[in-house]
Amino acid sequence: MSQSTASSHPEIRETVRRLCTQFPGEYWRKLDRERAYPSDFVQTLTKNGFLSILIPEEFGGSGLDLSAATAVLEEIHRSGCNGGACHAQMYTMGTLLKHGTPEQKAKYLPKVASGELRLQAFGVTEPSSGTDTTRITTFARREGDNYIVNGQKIWISRAEHSDLMVLLVRTTARDEAAKPSDGMSVLLVDMRTAVGNGLTIRPIRTMLNHASTELFFDDLKVPVENLIGVEGKGFKYILDGMNAERILIASECIGDGRFFIDRASAYAKDRSVFGQPIGQNQGIQFPIARAYIQLSAASGMVDKAAAMFDSGEACGTEANMAKMLASEASWYAADTCLQTHGGFGFAEEYDIERKFRETRLYQVAPISTNLILSHVATHVLELPKSF
Ligand SMILES: Cc1cc2nc3c(=O)[nH]c(=O)nc-3n(C[C@H](O)[C@H](O)[C@H](O)COP(=O)(O)OP(=O)(O)OC[C@H]3O[C@@H](n4cnc5c(N)ncnc54)[C@H](O)[C@@H]3O)c2cc1C
Repeated sequence: MSQSTASSHPEIRETVRRLCTQFPGEYWRKLDRERAYPSDFVQTLTKNGFLSILIPEEFGGSGLDLSAATAVLEEIHRSGCNGGACHAQMYTMGTLLKHGTPEQKAKYLPKVASGELRLQAFGVTEPSSGTDTTRITTFARREGDNYIVNGQKIWISRAEHSDLMVLLVRTTARDEAAKPSDGMSVLLVDMRTAVGNGLTIRPIRTMLNHASTELFFDDLKVPVENLIGVEGKGFKYILDGMNAERILIASECIGDGRFFIDRASAYAKDRSVFGQPIGQNQGIQFPIARAYIQLSAASGMVDKAAAMFDSGEACGTEANMAKMLASEASWYAADTCLQTHGGFGFAEEYDIERKFRETRLYQVAPISTNLILSHVATHVLELPKSF
């Protein structure tokens, strides 16, 4: 590898890299063409315990911290693989772990840890609310021992490959709640019984293979015992989980960026035009060096945010900044790598165009760059709010 390797968790990194060699570019290209799910890859990570590393040992996981999880995802992405198919199995359970009852945790977490239950769908976004989550309208009406759910979600990843889903619903209408962020609740939906009984999943074909779907709820019954935490307080629980998600996705961007820099450097040394390696020209060298500098800075921010998360400090701002810097650094590295490859960058067999499409997502999801800028402007710099 052309770059110095990140030093934290060397054994985890080495093992993940070794596992990833079983899933070379052609494996991902075929899935990408067919828009198919990487079941073998996910099974291999599950079997080796990498998707349960954040689950405490008492529930069958390895009880490691977020910093260890960032090492796993960074190496997956640096190897040319894509953790998007299963990264949520690592962190979605955080809502249950932090806010679930002892009975709920005992019932679900050991099975999530073993991989017997896939808890990797997270239903928040709706077509008409967009980023303004307080305007979701999917509603759960209490009827005896059940909630009856009606509404619609969009962009819900992996819904077809998940046994359980953490779902954010309104239990009080926005205009009847004390404040807009009140009156939302989190339900744990058992997809195995829900589909065909009030829940319809419709896949959305997108520019990348991310198992995206749209969900339609039509009088879906969810037992009241599947409410997580206190009714009406769900927005706060979801926000809690978002910091982990943003830091982990930032680490995937760091891995993508390292992949692009590795590939660009190797190609620039190898490809000769006008009788010399293209990498001898500063017009080729400098963008790659700039990508490396930007990525190194972003990586430091990801490490900082993960360390703050692991020590229990409030890290919303740092998680946001890490995600923004990492997604922009990986995108610059992607563009540089493509340009370095000239026409070959567009050929499927180089995997550059696939990774280029994949890494672009992270400036939009799970939160878009403008919303991060707005958070820093108003919460950190105390500038007047625009909305
Ligand atoms: C492939 C994919 C997978 C996803 N997976 C999931 C999932 O599993 N679960 C889930 O719940 N959601 C998921 N999402 C949704 C994702 O979180 C949202 O797409 C993202 O948060 C942006 O929201 P939006 O698409 O509604 O954009 P909008 O809110 O409609 O915003 C559109 C654009 O306008 C900008 N904008 C909006 N308001 C302002 C403002 N006030 N000032 C400046 N700019 C503004 C935004 O930054 C954005 O660029 C996924 C999305 C994609 C594409």
